[in-house]
Amino acid sequence: MPSPTRFCSSFLFQTEKLNFLLDCGPGVSFSILRHRIDPELIDSIFISHCHTDHIGGLFLLVQMMHLLQRRRPVNVYLPEEAVTGVRNYLNTCYLFPERITPRLILHPVTPDFRFEEESVTIRVVANRHLMGNESVIRELNYPNKMQSFCYVVDVSGKRMVYSGDIESSGDLVNIISDADLLISECFHATVDELLPLALEKHVKSVLLTHIPPELEGKEQEILQRARKAGFEKLTIAHDGLLMEV
Ligand SMILES: [Zn+2]
Repeated sequence: MPSPTRFCSSFLFQTEKLNFLLDCGPGVSFSILRHRIDPELIDSIFISHCHTDHIGGLFLLVQMMHLLQRRRPVNVYLPEEAVTGVRNYLNTCYLFPERITPRLILHPVTPDFRFEEESVTIRVVANRHLMGNESVIRELNYPNKMQSFCYVVDVSGKRMVYSGDIESSGDLVNIISDADLLISECFHATVDELLPLALEKHVKSVLLTHIPPELEGKEQEILQRARKAGFEKLTIAHDGLLMEV
């Protein structure tokens, strides 16, 4: 659900040699401009799944890069099931690959995907976020494969887990142990489920994102609840938030 105070999901990771976006929700181009980030520095874009709040900002971002005459190619890693559709939609938007700069390289991501570059390792873990569509897909013979991924990022001995969207906190149980930072949505898993799990799994720091409407404006209450539960290192995301891991 769009919010009057927040754009949709998109996170810029900056390491010594590599800069990449995790998800590309509507609003990402505005955020990039508002926070004076040079779009030229984005090497790659990783998409967790194809709900519009996670991929819908990609097309305007490509258009903006084109208008800024970016020459360097952009690597877009996205669920394998989406590659053809995204290519077709770019053409529908008159962003023809033969005419635009930068060159977009669409990489299909499947559950065995692993990215290794400049001491950054990224692996995907499939989750059950889209599985609720199973009966409709089967009944109507849609080609969708319900590909939805969490991303586990390792950089210089630090581990960061990005939940993407999940079906429940059960999707995180096996991937968050000892993480330095867990960026978790709290729409499909409640704060009351996530925090005890983070404590149990010795997660060092949690950033809550994808805030449901009923929690809007209740940041202080959530932080208080976390402290009571013994979890000190909780941050609630807002647009433009900067964190160092
Ligand atoms: Zn979703």
